[in-house]
Amino acid sequence: MLLETTASVDQEVNPWESAAHRFDEAAELLGLDDGMRKVLKRPAMELSVNFPVVLDDGRIEVFTGYRVQHSIARGPAKGGIRFAPDVSLDEVRALAAWMTWKCAVVNIPFGGGKGGVICEPHLLSDGELERITRRYTAEISEFIGPERDVPAPDVNTNEQTMAWIMDTYSMHQRHTVTAVVTGKPLELGGSRGRPEATGRGCMFVSIQALRKLGLPVEGARVVIQGFGNVGGMAARLMSRAGFRIVCIVEWDGAVYNPRGLDIEALTKYRSETGSVRGFPGAGDMDKDEALLLDCDILIPAARENVITSSNADRINAKILCEGANGPTTFVADSILAEKKVFVIPDILANAGGVTVSYFEWVQDRQGYFWTEERVNEELEEIMVASFDAVTHYAERHSVNNRTAAYMLALDRVANAIRRRGLYA
Ligand code: GLU
Repeated sequence: MLLETTASVDQEVNPWESAAHRFDEAAELLGLDDGMRKVLKRPAMELSVNFPVVLDDGRIEVFTGYRVQHSIARGPAKGGIRFAPDVSLDEVRALAAWMTWKCAVVNIPFGGGKGGVICEPHLLSDGELERITRRYTAEISEFIGPERDVPAPDVNTNEQTMAWIMDTYSMHQRHTVTAVVTGKPLELGGSRGRPEATGRGCMFVSIQALRKLGLPVEGARVVIQGFGNVGGMAARLMSRAGFRIVCIVEWDGAVYNPRGLDIEALTKYRSETGSVRGFPGAGDMDKDEALLLDCDILIPAARENVITSSNADRINAKILCEGANGPTTFVADSILAEKKVFVIPDILANAGGVTVSYFEWVQDRQGYFWTEERVNEELEEIMVASFDAVTHYAERHSVNNRTAAYMLALDRVANAIRRRGLYA
């Protein structure tokens, strides 16, 4: 474990280093041969595009976008597209690999991919965002498709973004292709339950973890970082289910009430004021301190590198449920293990989103749409079965949950590649 003791800060926070480190550890424990390691480690395809867009004031700006397909061994590449100023190729690579492992953990027939565009979405108008999305789609359109690579929403992208991608791709094909993206609006072939799916999945695995630790769901104290696609939905669903959401942590501050926050009221307050800060009926708190609160479940549901060597030893949660991708660095992993925090790793905890994306893709291809009850029931079945598979694997092989999830996933993908054989 050389990197664990000597990792530089750069190595620790580079998502690709984190992904590679965890891959190496799982591959070693599985006894994967050298050739297979080489195949699985590097992304199968990396596309980088620079494209011009006319801004509202008439200026031309050139944007950089990526689409990485890490693996298509088990099916089409699958994974979201994020818009953010700090998107990098290394980040998209790591996220693409995590999608491969995530789809394998929940055993849905997809490989892994990810995309990103370097931009500052909050400073762009809707028209500018639409032009960026459409031009980026045109640039990557030869590489995506229902059988090839199926994008979805991620950080700062949403149903509307997916509608633009679907429309642009369809215009190029000269017919409507709904299954080219998931996370679409309902009226364009979206699935019921998709917007809530990642948060709902976090809730299902949190319930399983509480049961495993012999703790009650009713009144379980939850701290959630992020109040968007994942964190906002998890907060809403979990507070309705009897959890006590004691703290919401956002990029500009946190609000805390040990008796539990009124999430509906907080949602309304945030949409009116643009911030959670100053919410009546709760105290404001420092956002870094908030992650260290004594609680039953901590759900980081924002970005990477939130739990690092600088705060892991002060985490006071019994359960860490990773709603975001890569919120914990590999150095922090071993600190959390020593503290006996029960970790539900990202590739399991946040797999509810891609699982319902799979349902959406199936529904689009069949042209037959499910009820929300059916979506939620089938999601629960998959999340609970995957949680059991990972935790039993961990117990059987005396490894932590994250390593177990990686080992299970690597083994499934490696088996698919062995069965297919290499074409040469
Ligand atoms: N962006 C989500 C994730 O990281 C969803 C991906 C998808 O539905 O394809 O899992």
